[in-house]
Amino acid sequence: MLTQLRHIVESMTAAASLEQALQALVHLTRNVMQVDCCSVYVAEPERRCYRLAATDGLAESAVGKAFLPFEEGIVGLVGQREELINLADASAHPAFKLLPDVAEEAFRSFLGTPIMHQRQVVGILVVQQKESRLFDEGEESFLVTLAAQLAARIAHAQARSQLTRTDWGKPLRGVAGSPGVAIARAWVWRPRKELAAIVPRKADDPDAQLGRFDQAVEAVRHELEALALRFRESSSQDSVAIFDIYLHLLADPSYIKPIRLRIEQEEWTAISAVKLVSETLIGRFGSMQDPYLRERATDIKDIALRLISRLVQDEPEHLAISERVVLVAEEVTATILAEVPRDCLAGVVSIKGSSNSHTAILARAMGVPAIMGVEFPLAEIHRLMLVVDGYSGDLFVEPKEPILAEYRQLLHEEQALDQLVHSTDGQPSETLDGVKVSLLLNAGLSADTEIAINELADGVGLYRTEIPFMLHDSFPSEWEQTARYRGILETYRNRPVCMRTLDVGGDKQLPYFPIVEENPFLGWRGIRLTLDHPELFLVQLKAMLRASEGLDNLAVMLPMISSVGEIRAARRLLDQAWSEVSQEVATRGGTLHYPPLGVMIEVPSALYILPEMAPLIDFWSVGSNDLTQYLLAVDRNNARVASIYDSFHPAVIRALQLLVDSARRYGKPVSVCGELAGDPIGVLVLLAMGYRRFSMNTRNIPRIKYVLRNASLDELVPLLAEGLRSDSPHALRGLFSRYLEERGMGGFLRAGHKVTA
Ligand code: PEP
Ligand code: MG
Repeated sequence: MLTQLRHIVESMTAAASLEQALQALVHLTRNVMQVDCCSVYVAEPERRCYRLAATDGLAESAVGKAFLPFEEGIVGLVGQREELINLADASAHPAFKLLPDVAEEAFRSFLGTPIMHQRQVVGILVVQQKESRLFDEGEESFLVTLAAQLAARIAHAQARSQLTRTDWGKPLRGVAGSPGVAIARAWVWRPRKELAAIVPRKADDPDAQLGRFDQAVEAVRHELEALALRFRESSSQDSVAIFDIYLHLLADPSYIKPIRLRIEQEEWTAISAVKLVSETLIGRFGSMQDPYLRERATDIKDIALRLISRLVQDEPEHLAISERVVLVAEEVTATILAEVPRDCLAGVVSIKGSSNSHTAILARAMGVPAIMGVEFPLAEIHRLMLVVDGYSGDLFVEPKEPILAEYRQLLHEEQALDQLVHSTDGQPSETLDGVKVSLLLNAGLSADTEIAINELADGVGLYRTEIPFMLHDSFPSEWEQTARYRGILETYRNRPVCMRTLDVGGDKQLPYFPIVEENPFLGWRGIRLTLDHPELFLVQLKAMLRASEGLDNLAVMLPMISSVGEIRAARRLLDQAWSEVSQEVATRGGTLHYPPLGVMIEVPSALYILPEMAPLIDFWSVGSNDLTQYLLAVDRNNARVASIYDSFHPAVIRALQLLVDSARRYGKPVSVCGELAGDPIGVLVLLAMGYRRFSMNTRNIPRIKYVLRNASLDELVPLLAEGLRSDSPHALRGLFSRYLEERGMGGFLRAGHKVTA
């Protein structure tokens, strides 16, 4: 069954249009299931009806012309109930409705399943038989599996068909990733996937290439095992065999060994070596007489493409862009972003990812509007004119003049707002009723965000150290790290700089230190990794300490702390590093201050051990991005669950309240360095709770300062109390947005803005 399923799905993918794809689907499904009829109905929400989009068995002449209202017929019932309906005699069912011109009279039995995409019924898949019989469980599960596989393809195809229309009335909807508006042509970045299109290249880092290759093999093995597991339940011998062959191939020395040799001895890049060896084998198997062996050529190609697609994720092409563009890709990564010259980057659109992916955080730090998690066919968008609405997540393709005009106006207002917020540059950071706050900078994501703002920031609240590690080919040496850290400590001379120790793992991978895990966000990440590698941790701590000589403005912060044991272990290593470096400094006649040590609150367990933690640390800082992710068990990178990732969820708000109250009780400074602190509503809620130290990206500092200078704590405290009486995050957000609007600061909130043209 699996082979047939795959065949159907592949035939659909290969089809040039939605109509052809659905035609292939009904035809193949009818044959495979040996039924008398297969049809697909596609939902048309504006007309509130299903349209017969393809059939093999009903009257061909009705395709595209027969419509069934959502509320009518058994097809309508499948949609309403959002579940499968299996009937031996459909005509006897009270909901049965005979459509004129469809020629359905001959069929008695009916099996229909909804095609669901993102909680919406996008269509109904139906098979029918002349004889009266109930379909068996195997048939039911085949149809349900097929419908699940089709859902994204139909949604995708609908987006594609929208794209071929000349009327661009409707925008494509994504997740707002970074605020702002961009109007520019699309520049599509695509990984090199076709074997033939890869030009073999030599590398000068065979060890790193070998590491990347091994990592890709592991990753593909995991992918295949996960797929195998998914199909085990419904599997025939076929599926087991496919996965066996694939997994076997991945472990087969006659395939893997020559690739490794080409990397090690001939110094090809990992991608080139996979291409060269695979092509030779594909050629050899492809010309064999035996059809079984000939088929193996397809398997090798499949595996090779999986390996290559893994490898290219880490190795973007060199981008030759010389005009302002909207960068568009299946998955925009921090490294692809880094490749585009900043002057040319008007906006970002990523099919994968969500508002808290590091790419979105980076885009926000760079002040580049971004939309994440939006679906459309990549190939067709290249060079088309786009409007990126980074407030609402709406993407307009080839917009008409009224829309362009409205967005040009918005851009204009944006610039005016920028000027307005800078009018408070020389004034203190305090509220209307005189409450003083510290506005700190989140630095480290990209080099150019650090320098420009130093006059406005009261210091650095979070220096993410992992990015320089990610852009290297190997662990940066102690001296390289010292020079980099010294740069930032000197830039912020006389102001505190809080450096976070290495937080790799999760979605931040080092190309030369592969970590392959089923569940990376729950795995070897942050402090867990550095404590297991004291040799790396000590180098980083010593580099930070040495960089602070004579400046005395360093604080050290530990990411992903979940137990006091981790703090004690880190403290021991900091002591050791300090005693070594301070001796060295003393021999030069200098002095070295022991830095304050703080921890990030981002793992829920940390909230319940605050009393035990307090005596061991000097300050706390909330990583609201991860705290939200872990409290709500919602992957911060996953667009599918983006709507339930919400830092205003009552659980997150209570956790934040608990922390600020404890900080007061134990007399420890506390700050917020997640994205919530740079959000105009978030910062007001945090202020009302009792927070006074906020760390955010460069662009947000003047904006947040303006918001705070025009707000009164006196008014915010009762607002928070009122918001907390409701169990809905929307109520709290609504109250605070109204507050901003009433004080003329609605311009900071464009999230709800929708262009009407
Ligand atoms: C956070 O989790 O809120 C945080 C500031 O750290 P990062 O986004 O780097 O994980
Ligand atoms: Mg974090």
